[in-house]
Amino acid sequence: MRTIGILGGMSWESTLEYYRLLNQGVVRRLGGLHSAPLLLHSFDFAQIAAMQSAGDWPGLGALLGKAAKGLAQAGADAMIIATNTMHLVAREVESACNLPVLHIAQAAGEAARASGCSRVGLLGTRFTMETGVYADELRARFGIETLIPDDGDRDFVHHAIYEELVRGLFSEKTRRGFREVISRLSAAGAEGVILGCTEIPILIKPEDASIPLFDTTALHSKMAVDWMLS
Ligand code: GLU
Repeated sequence: MRTIGILGGMSWESTLEYYRLLNQGVVRRLGGLHSAPLLLHSFDFAQIAAMQSAGDWPGLGALLGKAAKGLAQAGADAMIIATNTMHLVAREVESACNLPVLHIAQAAGEAARASGCSRVGLLGTRFTMETGVYADELRARFGIETLIPDDGDRDFVHHAIYEELVRGLFSEKTRRGFREVISRLSAAGAEGVILGCTEIPILIKPEDASIPLFDTTALHSKMAVDWMLS
């Protein structure tokens, strides 16, 4: 098996999910006492979130790049960035560590294409929804169009992520709010919705919508397991 490097802690709530899914994925394929060989660099999310809101993307690129280089030196063979938002600096990470970065939007795009979607809704932080980090990748690689919620709904989703989900708060009220945002995306023409924030799938499950939901934490973990075993 090849060793995966993980840039995590963004937030640790979803890094726990990655850790579980990677290990379960390996044992499902190999059985016995197998588990996932991995190296984790877990950040202090307070520092990351402060730099995000200050718009210090060059600083974040340098910070994640340095950590990725450390994981490469420690023996990682490829890297995953265990958050959608921080794929904004995926190129900087890749060039700093000189290893392949398994891109989360590629994992989501493959699943959306396999289920026949040509237009998908996207939920995530404002940084994910309002930049091309996803939309450009989905259009260029898969010819899939991305729809984002209106400004009020983007505000709700962004704040729910930072005020609740990354703090481990998962409430019924917020779940209802997400369900309504998903229905509005569906009414606007989305054939499926990408849960493009790695904490959203802890709250929102397939039964919360009448259209397919793409769980980026699970899809990204599966991509990593396939790579480790290939
Ligand atoms: N984990 C989230 C994501 O997938 C949000 C936290 C962050 O800003 O990195 O985008």
